[in-house]
Amino acid sequence: MEFKNKISEVLQNSLNSIEIERLQDNVGYRCNMACKHCHVSAGPGRTEMMEKDIVDQVLDVLKKHEIRTLDITGGAPEMNPHFTYLVTAAKKEGCHVIVRSNLTIFFEKGFEHLPEFYQEHDVEITASLPYYMNSSVDRVRGDGTFRKSIEVIKRLNSLGYENGNSEKKLNLVYNPSGTFLAPEQKSLEEDYRRELAAQHEITFNHLFTFSNMPIGRFKDHLDKTGSLGKYLKTLEDSFNPCTLDALMCRHLISVGWDGYLYDCDFNQVLGLHINDSCPQHIRVFDHEFLKAREISVGNHCYGCTAGQGST
Ligand code: SF4
Repeated sequence: MEFKNKISEVLQNSLNSIEIERLQDNVGYRCNMACKHCHVSAGPGRTEMMEKDIVDQVLDVLKKHEIRTLDITGGAPEMNPHFTYLVTAAKKEGCHVIVRSNLTIFFEKGFEHLPEFYQEHDVEITASLPYYMNSSVDRVRGDGTFRKSIEVIKRLNSLGYENGNSEKKLNLVYNPSGTFLAPEQKSLEEDYRRELAAQHEITFNHLFTFSNMPIGRFKDHLDKTGSLGKYLKTLEDSFNPCTLDALMCRHLISVGWDGYLYDCDFNQVLGLHINDSCPQHIRVFDHEFLKAREISVGNHCYGCTAGQGST
């Protein structure tokens, strides 16, 4: 069944926004890595990058509206030349700032100082660590990634990023390494906590589990291996109506590198714009209008509603 029809059947309505609690800002698709599961298909060769005038329009929206969280993503968002300016200015506006970091960026020339920058500005870090064992991580993200990630987490721990510190949060993200759904978040978080403490003496705040979305580089992999249809069926068969209230599209708005607005980062990658009746660009942002919008959906949305959800 089409996802749109499934929603009509369950909600007796379309999928609508509940509130805009957070602005998710994709500042560009360039990345120092090229992970197999990346829904953005980010990599060193990508050239899309948010320019300073769009960064300023994002800051203007934060200044004028009651949106108190800025969630910065990419690519490796740190590679945008205006990244530290954006973080510093958003903090001055009193916003809570979250950065989706791949952690390995701190090993690249010119980015070594960022852990201290994050510490100084109380930036919350959400970092991909697809498993607590080396082999699974390196297979998905490239040789040496696990070792580098552990080294950086140790450094962040020493800067105060550790379990229980509400000012300096470090969250990890699990992705399945194949075409199966993420396990139950709480029990996997306990496994991560126990194993990472025992093997590497590191801590973190929370673990988030996400199923792989059937888009971007992961979709290419599904196409190549002839498993796209089977995976989509798994997602559809695992539809869980209890996930609907917390869907991220109902609580945030996503800004693309060129300033266009989307319901989420996934729709952005697919070029599925916010619905036609809404203002389409950050320069004409209208909070009242956007917070009551109908969300643009497609069958990839089953990736967010499968099992315990991916939000
Ligand atoms: S992909 Fe997920 S977050 Fe995006 S619109 Fe669909 S359900 Fe919402």
